Amino acid sequence: MEVVSVADAGRVTETGETGAHGARLTIDLGAIVANWRMLAARGAECAAVVKADAYGCGVARVGPALWSAGCRTFFVAHLAEGIAARAALPEAAIYVLNGLPPGACEPFAAHDLRPVLGSREEIAEWAAFSGGGRPAALHVDTGMNRLGLPVPEALELSGDPRIAAAGIDLLLSHFVSAEKPEDPVNARQIADFARVKAAYPGLLASLANSSGVFLDGAGHDLLRPGYALFGGNPTPDSANPMRPVVRLEALIAQVRQVEAGASVGYNGRWTAPAPSRLATLSLGYADGFPRAISGRGQALVGGVPCPILGLVSMDLIILDVTAAPAARRGATAVLIGDSLDIDTVGRAAGTIGYEILTGLGSRYVRTYVG
Ligand SMILES: *Cc1c(COP(=O)(O)O)cnc(C)c1O
Repeated sequence: MEVVSVADAGRVTETGETGAHGARLTIDLGAIVANWRMLAARGAECAAVVKADAYGCGVARVGPALWSAGCRTFFVAHLAEGIAARAALPEAAIYVLNGLPPGACEPFAAHDLRPVLGSREEIAEWAAFSGGGRPAALHVDTGMNRLGLPVPEALELSGDPRIAAAGIDLLLSHFVSAEKPEDPVNARQIADFARVKAAYPGLLASLANSSGVFLDGAGHDLLRPGYALFGGNPTPDSANPMRPVVRLEALIAQVRQVEAGASVGYNGRWTAPAPSRLATLSLGYADGFPRAISGRGQALVGGVPCPILGLVSMDLIILDVTAAPAARRGATAVLIGDSLDIDTVGRAAGTIGYEILTGLGSRYVRTYVG
């Protein structure tokens, strides 16, 4: 998609769409599918991680698009997310990464969801309930110390009848630093996971998240990407091989000229060093745009990078549009899109693109294309 022209912005305003909402989020389902196909072409079967409402992109639309492309296995974080995913994906295998909360077997079964079991208690509870008749995964902790059985415990349990009784058909582990290929922890985790896999013959194995897909020896039977599907760069040391997915554009509510010395926004955090043209955007931190980007980020107006001035407000952002002749009331500014990819926006906010994506709010109008 090219930069939104003033004429295009006018058209959007006439429809009342952006005018009613302040901002528009465009999600390119075709790009998500293309990203999934690109990852799936790297060898193993490719699942899709669609936790946090498909990284903010909406599982109700993303799920069926990926299913149509051939994706058959999905991962979410919570039971509630699993129920939402099930509504969109009646036939898919859906695993719930955060495991089995006490007493939750019934709703898991009612929605045909597969818990990713991470402790002896979870294995015992699921086994007692399902008697092996319902699939589940086993999470092995190879270094995160977050979820899953430690490697020695997983090795000790192999061959234990409780594993079969819990219906375990998939073994998974998660990388600590897959986006840093030079980190020696990757090779340690790959080796430990291979040892556990060898102790569980017949189970499918899954290790690679988005960045892991690009690490040697991490492929196994099932890839488990999330971020890269949604346009994030899985190889931060080199150019992003993924297609961008989200585009966030906000309406310019007002444009004003200020004199040198004028202070701008809450606490007067920015003072104009020279006469300046300012534009006020109808989008703020209540829309999920990070306040931490105050004074550090940019937006594009007619393709011109315009600095974000002072503090981001709840509903508004102030831009310096002195260099952007296209800025006028009713035009739009691009907050995410073109040169402002999610990784760039994340860095500017002192965080990662993941947090930008999953923070995307529901306040603006959402448009799906592709
Ligand atoms: C979130 C998550 C993934 C996906 O990770 P990305 O880096 O977004 O590809 C895979 N596996 C587990 C266990 C996760 O929690």
